[in-house]
Amino acid sequence: MRGVVLLGDRECCVKEFPDPIPGPGQVRVKIMATGICGSDLHLYHINEEQAKKRGDRIPGHEPCGIVDALGHGVKKVKEGDRVTIYHYLGCGYCDQCAAGNLMWCREAKGYGGPVDGSHADYVIADERNCVLMPDSISFIDGAFIACPGGTAYSSMKKLDAKAGDTVAVFGLGPVGLSGVILAKARGAKVIGVDILSLRTEMALKLGADAVVNAQSDDPVKFIRDFTSGKGVPLAFEASGSTKGRTDIVSALCRGGKAVFVGAGSSEKVINPGQMIGAQLTLMGSFVLPLWMTWEMVGFLNSQKISFEGIVTHKFPIEKAPEAYSLFDQGKTGKVVFEW
Ligand SMILES: [Zn+2]
Ligand SMILES: [Zn+2]
Repeated sequence: MRGVVLLGDRECCVKEFPDPIPGPGQVRVKIMATGICGSDLHLYHINEEQAKKRGDRIPGHEPCGIVDALGHGVKKVKEGDRVTIYHYLGCGYCDQCAAGNLMWCREAKGYGGPVDGSHADYVIADERNCVLMPDSISFIDGAFIACPGGTAYSSMKKLDAKAGDTVAVFGLGPVGLSGVILAKARGAKVIGVDILSLRTEMALKLGADAVVNAQSDDPVKFIRDFTSGKGVPLAFEASGSTKGRTDIVSALCRGGKAVFVGAGSSEKVINPGQMIGAQLTLMGSFVLPLWMTWEMVGFLNSQKISFEGIVTHKFPIEKAPEAYSLFDQGKTGKVVFEW
């Protein structure tokens, strides 16, 4: 099979690997769609020496495809099943694994990190990580469920966004835009904030009620004006920037709630005084638990929701160097590999 290998200093190549063979309890999935994520770019940016240490480990943690081979003892998943793959492997026994929080297992391993990821023709997955998808959900949507869409879905649940609420979404990359789609699907109004007009325009197309360019306008003032001076009750921070994090807290109304998912800046920005006086709830979030992946598949199916409008570029896997380099420029929507 073909798989991507990172060479360090923003270089990558496509190499030939032996087709992987599923072990006991595992299945092999023929990848049909998989995205390039902001966190893949962190790996793309490592230097040559770090890349040598990493070796031929295949990146990619947004796997979606068709099961094509079964290991010994696999009972529920069948060849031909369309699946999105939960991208953390857990020990399978501890309290967190039992609760479906595989990302919190002390032995958790993420695809594309310690185990080979999905930027390849095939991936090996534990049977229980395979979440079945009906034909109505596309492979690209399955790749979104695995990471950017799933991250936004669990955040909107934490915010409990619903009709009558206004949600401010800061950072309109693939995760933020997924948040726009899901907040709208839950009946809320959405204000999108970004510094790129390409991204604010995409947010409007995907249903945002208002957008503001934080480069040319003051988003806090805009949000206060939009909400008759009160501020928003709910906010989703996907920019990871110091300014985004500071502004989003200032844009909340009294009793407001914000979820932070954007990694990036390491500056400390939260002012406890501001939090106490306004009785704010500020939360962190990170992917979604395995059980919620099943729920999300049901939600997309029943609400007829798709994330495909966020995709601006599709590449075959052999064009990985071009795809990575384009996504790295930060001027696209989602970039995916498709088979
Ligand atoms: Zn991702
Ligand atoms: Zn565990």
